[in-house]
Amino acid sequence: MQAYDGMYLDGAWRPAAGPDVIEVVDPAEEQVIATVPAGTAEDVDAAVRAARAALPGWAATPPARRAAHLAALRDALAARKDEIAETVTAELGSPLPFSQQVQVGLPLAVAGSYAELAATYVFEEKTGNSTVCLEPVGVVAAITPWNYPLHQVVAKVAPALAAGCTVVLKPAEDTPLTARRFAEAVHEAGLPTGVFNLVTGLGPVAGQALAEHPGVDMVSFTGSTAVGRRIGAIAAGAVKKVALELGGKSANVILPDADLARAVNVGVANVMANSGQTCSAWTRMLVHRDQYDEAVELAAAAAAKYGDRIGPLVSARQQQRVRGYIEKGVAEGARLVAGGPDNPRERGYYVAPTVFADVTPGMTIAQEEIFGPVLAVLRYEDEEDALRIANGTAYGLAGAVWSGDEARAVAFARRMETGQVDINGGRFNPLAPFGGYKQSGVGRELGVHGLTEYLQTKSLQF
Ligand code: NAD
Repeated sequence: MQAYDGMYLDGAWRPAAGPDVIEVVDPAEEQVIATVPAGTAEDVDAAVRAARAALPGWAATPPARRAAHLAALRDALAARKDEIAETVTAELGSPLPFSQQVQVGLPLAVAGSYAELAATYVFEEKTGNSTVCLEPVGVVAAITPWNYPLHQVVAKVAPALAAGCTVVLKPAEDTPLTARRFAEAVHEAGLPTGVFNLVTGLGPVAGQALAEHPGVDMVSFTGSTAVGRRIGAIAAGAVKKVALELGGKSANVILPDADLARAVNVGVANVMANSGQTCSAWTRMLVHRDQYDEAVELAAAAAAKYGDRIGPLVSARQQQRVRGYIEKGVAEGARLVAGGPDNPRERGYYVAPTVFADVTPGMTIAQEEIFGPVLAVLRYEDEEDALRIANGTAYGLAGAVWSGDEARAVAFARRMETGQVDINGGRFNPLAPFGGYKQSGVGRELGVHGLTEYLQTKSLQF
């Protein structure tokens, strides 16, 4: 058990203002592996002051120099990639190969992309008799969830720094150790003092104090829609800029002319990855009624294969929550064809890969985000019906369409109310904008779109 007593403020590890700590639990072993300080409003204030003091210097640093700092940060993260992957596995529970390839591999690609973008992006251009200047928004509060603990941090901090903003990060209480590793990499990369600061702590205490702090110009939040609403209200009250990446209930639409087996197998893999703790997961599979029984059989068989390859959920709380949804699915009349509410192992916060058939669009498990390894398979009559079901939730984060005719899939995708659609299993692209329609959020992350979130516009007339 490791007791960490510092937070990264103003370029150094400094003791927290108060004595309270957060216990970090290994969800596979149900054991406390570390404690970190539970930051207070006082710690938040010190961090925001450091970020404000660093802002003028960093904002005035030429973009090419900022790019060089970001490249150094990427290299520092890459040098620690094994250690970071082990840290993610210890506090989140994702199997080590997944931590290495996705949990660390993805943010390395994102950090690299912002090192390049900072160097090439045009921060000033002429239009008529004006010069339009894109300037940093200022001090950014980054509040992140636990499901991809390094990626969520890098997807905010890298574009904010590329834009010339300074940052205070408040990571999720379940996964603060990965955030500490990130701060160590920032330090090793030699970023200027105060440009990045880390405050660990509880959401309603440290997170809220940070969002409310008058020295913060923008809040960038990823997490639940419930907390996102509160953050949005706080930001609106102070007229602060806000970016919200929230929940999802994405549809995987399999059109009748698709390769059914491939679409179902990739669809199940998409839901089971990271034990279902992915906001963009395709948790609703939509299948034509003539192919429905075959698809359900394929999905159940695919899910059963995940049995011992899947990691635990992050916490006992999440395990309880997901089991509650599975019980609700049964109570509302859906048919369990794989998995179920019982804990598949004696120790660890595991949930068995679960597939429900005979799910109708109004059921709770077809409407609410479960955030666990649970797939709902729904039946549709024709394309219009499929579109109605796909668009029939409050969310709009991601989705998928499969068809033997790519043009048909694209035509369908254009009518989906969602921020991202994968056509026939299209690969993840770290430069493509990621974010939600409807209640899945406001703003975009990644690529150029992610960078411009952290910029504000000034025009000079001549
Ligand atoms: P959460 O909303 O409970 O917590 C997210 C972060 O907000 C944490 O750092 C938490 O400490 C902080 N927080 C909590 N209450 C706060 C408050 N009152 N004021 C300020 N900060 C507060 O979410 P979670 O349980 O950590 O994550 C799961 C949720 O996140 C899921 O709903 C998932 O869909 C969503 N999510 C969305 C995306 C996306 O990109 N759209 C990515 C990952 C997760």
